[in-house]
Amino acid sequence: MAQKDFYDVLGVSRTASVDEIKSAYRKLALKYHPDRNPGDKQAEEEFKKVAQAYEVLSDQTKRKQYDQFGHAGADMGNGQGFGGFGFGQGSDINMDNIFDMFGDIFGGGQQKKRKKSGPTPKRGHDLAKELALSFDESFKGTKKEITYYHFVICSTCDGKAAEKGTSVTSCKECDGTGQTTFRQGMFAYAQPCSHCQGLGYMIPSPCKTCKGQSRIQKYDSISVNIPAGMYDGAELRLAGKGDAGIFGGDYGDLFLKITVMPHKQFKRVDDDLESALTLTYPQLVFGCQMDIEMLDGEKETIKIPRGCPIGERIVIAGKGFPKIHGKGRGNLVITTQCDIPKKLPVDAQAKLEEYSELIGTKTNGAQGSITAFFKKFLR
Ligand SMILES: [Zn+2]
Ligand SMILES: [Zn+2]
Repeated sequence: MAQKDFYDVLGVSRTASVDEIKSAYRKLALKYHPDRNPGDKQAEEEFKKVAQAYEVLSDQTKRKQYDQFGHAGADMGNGQGFGGFGFGQGSDINMDNIFDMFGDIFGGGQQKKRKKSGPTPKRGHDLAKELALSFDESFKGTKKEITYYHFVICSTCDGKAAEKGTSVTSCKECDGTGQTTFRQGMFAYAQPCSHCQGLGYMIPSPCKTCKGQSRIQKYDSISVNIPAGMYDGAELRLAGKGDAGIFGGDYGDLFLKITVMPHKQFKRVDDDLESALTLTYPQLVFGCQMDIEMLDGEKETIKIPRGCPIGERIVIAGKGFPKIHGKGRGNLVITTQCDIPKKLPVDAQAKLEEYSELIGTKTNGAQGSITAFFKKFLR
């Protein structure tokens, strides 16, 4: 059976450098690797050809022989020739080399081969907790006591997981790699080491406090300063207050998810503090000064201009929420409303009727109800 030229198999020129050959091989091997093409016979065949070509072209002596004599190198000395570089038929292809190659192609391989002298420290999880604030607290800032469960480093073993005077040892079975390899035909497979459960290390005398976990769960309490200006839906990150890492890894963070309760009088719009102010008709007509009590207990004097319409927005700069992102504060925005009384004292009613007449408007006046008003007309 005519064999395809090894250079053609790898798609490189006859003058290709070692690196070019290696790179071409890796690309093709990755493409045809059985792990990526499960059950695909053709891919498997391609994979074999590629590995075979690489086996020859990556070896200087073999490449020279091949260059000179081609596949017919069969009669040259070794009595086998390149045609004999089969897999599963007395193959002399070095599976370890191939395995190594895939090591870095498939990412995980590097770790497979790396010996572990002990457990790898891992960062702890981030945690989240909801925190409700009153509207006032969100405006002024506050101090809150947060209680929660989280992992902390075991103080008995100092996060080392082993009893004092003992230490974590590398797994002898897998030589600390956490994996054992076995071969089936031409392929080498890796599986987690059963002796150490794939950890690569053993703890002969686990710390009794943490049972070899290097950390323990704790009901903890921390005091948190909540800055002024927190808004509903904000997230506050408390660095290093999450779960302890394992085997000395960093702590995760604690995220406080803020909810802000509504207020009877005020509401927040961006960084502005908004409120409605109800005034009487004369106050709107003549103008006035009104004191309103702010969230921090301070009085804020609002000047209502003469002839102020209903729904007027009066802006007092810099009296809103402190800006969480950026400098300064939002504004206080007062919207005017008019207090329309359902009933008036008798003399006030008379005066108002008089006023209405003076400006030439018609009302149903003292009749008091719309029915009475119409009765008057129908009479
Ligand atoms: Zn411990
Ligand atoms: Zn092991």
